[in-house]
Amino acid sequence: MHEFTPEVEQLAREVMEYSLIRLRTDPPLDGPKSPEELQALAGNTITAAGIGGHAALELFKEVLAPACISTDHPRYLAFIPSAPTEYANLFDLVVGASALYGGSWLEGAGAVFAENQALRWISDLAGLPQSAGGVFVQGGTIGNLSALVAARAHAREKHPEVARWVIAASAEAHSSIKSAAHVMDVLTLFVEPDSDGSLQGADLAREIDSYHAANPTHRVFAIVATAGTTNLGIIDDLISIGPVAKERDIWFHVDGAYGLAALCAPSVRPLFNGVELADSLIVDPHKWLFAPFDACALIYRDPSIAKKAHLQKAAYLDTLDDDGEWNPSDYAIHLTRRARGLPFWFSLAAYGTNEYTDAMEQTLRIAQEAAELIRQHPRLSLLRDPELSVVAFTRDGWTADEYQKWSDQLLADQIGFVTPSSHHGQPILRFAIVNPWTKIEDLVAILNTL
Ligand SMILES: *Cc1c(COP(=O)(O)O)cnc(C)c1O
Repeated sequence: MHEFTPEVEQLAREVMEYSLIRLRTDPPLDGPKSPEELQALAGNTITAAGIGGHAALELFKEVLAPACISTDHPRYLAFIPSAPTEYANLFDLVVGASALYGGSWLEGAGAVFAENQALRWISDLAGLPQSAGGVFVQGGTIGNLSALVAARAHAREKHPEVARWVIAASAEAHSSIKSAAHVMDVLTLFVEPDSDGSLQGADLAREIDSYHAANPTHRVFAIVATAGTTNLGIIDDLISIGPVAKERDIWFHVDGAYGLAALCAPSVRPLFNGVELADSLIVDPHKWLFAPFDACALIYRDPSIAKKAHLQKAAYLDTLDDDGEWNPSDYAIHLTRRARGLPFWFSLAAYGTNEYTDAMEQTLRIAQEAAELIRQHPRLSLLRDPELSVVAFTRDGWTADEYQKWSDQLLADQIGFVTPSSHHGQPILRFAIVNPWTKIEDLVAILNTL
């Protein structure tokens, strides 16, 4: 190990060739296997003598990779897929080869500088002040948690007398909000959205005020609005929610893990009006901004508040905090970090932001076309007009079981990956379209099986 031998050189060629083929062609969808099947196919791979680079790569190509669904496949439409650009994926290889430490300015100034410019692009699209800033974290779950921890630390300083802290959010908020509340040992106040699924400021204000009146020792420290729910792509009414937070001196966090990517799409930008009032926001470039896993952009209006909450103090770290430099570690729950925003930065810098706008509008257009196909389909009913790029619908007369069987078969036949979800207790199907490679013919092929 740690010697660049002719064998290493040869393996490097094999690795590059595999990577190029993977990037050039549509991969098969593939699918999971049981641990027993994988054990039978792969055997014990960890041995004292090692199996060699060539054999390990072959094992990955022939056994392991085919047991992973290709999340960038154009007919992978379940959950939220991923669709990294060619440049973003290529640069991920460079990041992997470069031993970059992304936690501190001292060690990673160049990488941090570039990441910060990518964050600035998002921050400017949202209309946050120039003083805003943040960090790329692993995912929306950690992004939401880190923002909420900063919010509570800030509230604690102002209200040391409070007995119980509370997060207010829509009943449709992402599961990671409940998870954050659990980790932080705080309470949640979930407010019903309107009949369209969008949380409204007036409802939120009423619920918070009556909660505070009934629980005088408790205090809501953060309001979480969702800018694009995962299930249906619905955006809370940010413009009415922001002032509810301001008037009560409550932190306003916008969870846009999926949806805020569309800030760069003029056709839907007005739906996000009010996001400029946010104290913090997140968006996952690994979802709909064409970056590889795993990258969540976490941005604070006033980063100094976040730093107060998150800075780790230790004798061996003091040297990093001497001179007011920007250390990404200080803005979330982490210390060591991969410069995970760099593939996104590289792609953004190389292609330019216009290409992002075009690709985003393309996915939005396909979602509208898919909705029209579903409206015209004799056995399908569209659940609602898509606000962003999630298209949800039902198959007339099907039970939850039938949805699941259809989904399993679709994957088994390698036609597509579409999993059932539910809405108000009723089983539904949804297409989450974030991949510019997803063409209308791909959706027709799937709809024809319904
Ligand atoms: C996906 C998602 C999250 C969680 O993000 P991860 O990157 O999966 O941790 C949070 N909120 C919303 C609205 C999401 O869609």
